Amino acid sequence: MDEPIFAQLPDKPDHPGLELEVLARWERERTFERLREQNRGGPIFSFVDGPVTANKELGVHTAWGRTLKDAFQRYKALRGHEQRYQNGFDCQGLWIEVGVEHDLGLNSKREIEEFGLEEFARRCREKVVWSAEQLWAGSKRLGMWMDWGRDYFTFSDTNIEYVWRMLKRVHEQDWLYKGHRATEWCPRCGTSISQHELIGSYVDRADPSLYVRLPLLDRPGEFLVVWTTTPWTLPANVAAAVNPAAEYGRRANGEWVAVGRYPDESFEETRRGSELVGRRYRGPFDELAPAAALDHRVIPWGDVSLAEGTGIVHIAPGCGAEDFELSREHGLPVLAPVDESGRFYDDYGWLHGLSTVEAAEQIIGDLSEKGVLVESGLYEHRYPECWRCHTPLIFRLADDWFISVRDLRQPMRDANATVEWTPEYMGKRMDDWLANMGDWNISRRRYYGLPLPFYPCACGQLTVIGSRRELEERAVEGLEQLEELRRPWIDRVPVRCAACGEPVERIAEVGDVWLDAGIVPFSTLGWENDTWVPEGFGTGAAKGLTTADLPDHAYWERWFPADWVSEMREQIRLWFYSQLFMSVVLVGRAPFRQVLGYEKMLDETGREMHGSWGNTISADEAFERMGADVMRWQYCAQPPDRNLLFGFGPADEIKRRLLTFWHTVKFFVDYANIAGFRPSWADREPAGELAPLDRWLVERTRAFVADGAAGYEAWLTVDVMRAFDEYLDDLSNWYVRRSRRRFWDGEAAALRTLWHALVQTLRVLSPILPFVTDHLWRNLVLDGPDSVHLSGWPDAAEPDRGLLAEIAAVRRVVELGRRARGEAGIKNRQPLRRLVVEGAPRAVSNADEIADELRVKRVEFHRVEAVELRVKPNLPVLGPKLGKELGVVRAALQAGEFEELDGGRFRVLGRELEPEEVLVERGGREGWAVASADGVTVALELALDDELLLEAEAYDLIHRVNSMRKEHGLELTDRIVLTVPEAQHGLIDRHGEWIAGEVLATEIRIAGAELLIEKRA
Ligand SMILES: [Zn+2]
Ligand SMILES: [Zn+2]
Repeated sequence: MDEPIFAQLPDKPDHPGLELEVLARWERERTFERLREQNRGGPIFSFVDGPVTANKELGVHTAWGRTLKDAFQRYKALRGHEQRYQNGFDCQGLWIEVGVEHDLGLNSKREIEEFGLEEFARRCREKVVWSAEQLWAGSKRLGMWMDWGRDYFTFSDTNIEYVWRMLKRVHEQDWLYKGHRATEWCPRCGTSISQHELIGSYVDRADPSLYVRLPLLDRPGEFLVVWTTTPWTLPANVAAAVNPAAEYGRRANGEWVAVGRYPDESFEETRRGSELVGRRYRGPFDELAPAAALDHRVIPWGDVSLAEGTGIVHIAPGCGAEDFELSREHGLPVLAPVDESGRFYDDYGWLHGLSTVEAAEQIIGDLSEKGVLVESGLYEHRYPECWRCHTPLIFRLADDWFISVRDLRQPMRDANATVEWTPEYMGKRMDDWLANMGDWNISRRRYYGLPLPFYPCACGQLTVIGSRRELEERAVEGLEQLEELRRPWIDRVPVRCAACGEPVERIAEVGDVWLDAGIVPFSTLGWENDTWVPEGFGTGAAKGLTTADLPDHAYWERWFPADWVSEMREQIRLWFYSQLFMSVVLVGRAPFRQVLGYEKMLDETGREMHGSWGNTISADEAFERMGADVMRWQYCAQPPDRNLLFGFGPADEIKRRLLTFWHTVKFFVDYANIAGFRPSWADREPAGELAPLDRWLVERTRAFVADGAAGYEAWLTVDVMRAFDEYLDDLSNWYVRRSRRRFWDGEAAALRTLWHALVQTLRVLSPILPFVTDHLWRNLVLDGPDSVHLSGWPDAAEPDRGLLAEIAAVRRVVELGRRARGEAGIKNRQPLRRLVVEGAPRAVSNADEIADELRVKRVEFHRVEAVELRVKPNLPVLGPKLGKELGVVRAALQAGEFEELDGGRFRVLGRELEPEEVLVERGGREGWAVASADGVTVALELALDDELLLEAEAYDLIHRVNSMRKEHGLELTDRIVLTVPEAQHGLIDRHGEWIAGEVLATEIRIAGAELLIEKRA
């Protein structure tokens, strides 16, 4: 036999195996590079990739976003767009530090400093290099096409300089300030935490709950009772706040509490809160030095809640944001009891060195011994923890650097209003965030991060360095050892103060990582850069890791703002926010035009994925067990406004659907090979003599191409996959099903039409399923582009919607017919006499198709009378109204001489009857099966006669013989000799020729009692 035209396909695809082959071929044939060459000079599609944190391997969570980015870039490439394809890595900040600390077994900042900052910085870089290699490998395996090797790394000196330049601008605008306030603080990481880092970091926790008596100084035997869930803050107590408008009462034992909190108690004396203000009390830890000299008193505070506690609030301005504000208002002293690592300072006596957690129990014991503890227990509440190390946060006084948002809030909201968000509600979330955001705390007391270029001089002058050149010009010493713009090297480069001429040191703090990521639309595109610097992004720690250029300003003008960016919803307050912030500071407008956000990923049962719960899936495991295409289908079929339930169960369902498509291609390949059908790319549009079904498939395919484009244009891959599901059903369950005979006969028009449909489908799906589509493309397209990814978006005419609606109506009738059959318990192989269809006028011209598909002899289009409507007079109502006419009306109703009107009314003998005047019964008439939906009703006549029964017997026989052919391993074209038992002599007499044609029998023998087949030599 000749070499087949198309390679035979196995019964099911081995996705991982096939994908590795395709990857190797892309590499070998430089498919991606050729695509970029092909699109060079095309219209620009500017996508800016958000940096992925380089501290891990590729996970299935990250693979979701990467798939969406890749799918849309591939779609835009099919459309001929020139693109940048620059991948980015986030390389500094606490994520990296915490990972390295973990690897090195370090547990505190002191241990890091003992380890040595130079070596620590090198280890951090090594971690980034390792992770970048992992992420490159994983992303390539996923099928992501990026300009690998020309990535941006945020720890590049170039990127750092761009952030410096932005900060200098902020300082020139007078928006930069150093704040002294109580702020959320991670004692393990030893740094403050900013507002946007708190989102989503609240967890359920049980903390101590205690009620403490504070003795009033001038009223022996009287006490204030306060409630707290943070015992460690009591040694820093300086005041007690009451709600001036609330009523307070004194219990018989001398304890003052809010009356509203204890409505069932009786009190000796009651007072307004305002009357208690100014009373002095003995603090809970006045025996310790810091509190000893304090004058504790009652202060008024309108926000004191009567919803919990005692209505009297313990105030420690060094340990709470609101407390700190109150201290300013009332001139209260501020006690700061714990150091950066959350341990008590040495002037706290026996508490010295204890952590806030360790101190709690001892404090409770001490209060109990002193006889001031009223009650203690546990309290369940939501409490914030550090988003990197999960240590519970405390409040601590800190000097942090802030950018004031006062002048930026409205411009940022205006800029956001120009952005198109998908889903739309995410834009609203951004606006809510902007409307409520506080000043941006940009400083972190850490090591491996952007060095904040702030040099505050004792003379009062603050110098902010805006570039490396400026640093070099103003440096007093240390330039020769400056390996990177990074700690510890940069800390050894003091600059000269412009005001007094003295040397000034840099502050020790590093910057919030979102500064690094937010500057990307400027730093990577060469904003305000005079000359193009080849490989100019490979500076500082990025040296040797990337060959990315630092472009010039003209390039920035071309590529900014991004046409599109896409990340998870949580990035609203992180990367989307920091980019918008910097862009408004630098150029006064939004850095992106359109955004696609998406919700969270959970496991397939809807739980969070956690290493400790054993329900995480690594990307490698997913590649091996489902394959990248199946993963990508799962990601892309997900509506972005809902959580994705990812797992192997949904993957199996997707494989099943993919298999339907695979089998349709295989069906084509098998019959095209038999027929020697050889399609040509130049001649790819079906033309000439087409059967009605072929014409329909051409239109249906055009509609699918249009639906696919609409989905991609709306950034909704879910719409593309929904359109594909419907199309695949029409293709395999209608077109191929209805055309089998024509394929057996090797009819060229059918083969060409199906080939065209498959090829167009591959092009539409290729952005989402890049491997299997290219694999099949290579087999189906003999002389066209050698990769589906080089084939461009199909240029399809507007579909004939009228014809599509017609066949949609036919398919609805057929579905209803099958349902009616099923409900009546009549198997599909049993032919029936008649089908009546009502309400599907578009289907009329396809009566033969319907008859054939439903195995009925005749299809009639008219009112379905098999649904019997019986109407009788409601005598108690109608009798008195009609009087002697009742008899005639009743007879007319009984004879069916009535007309049904809207709203349950009927017309009979020229008069209208209201719903309450009649009794109505409906039912399927004897001998019919009825089904209806969407205004279409079908009725199948169920009566059987000898002829129908004999035909069913023939169908049964054909089915059995075809099963036997498969069991015998016969080729589709093999001819057989069929032996039929003597008992079925009559069947063969009547239908022998038909049966022989269906099973490719050249001869039928009648003998014995057994059905036999034999391959014809
Ligand atoms: Zn932490
Ligand atoms: Zn100075």
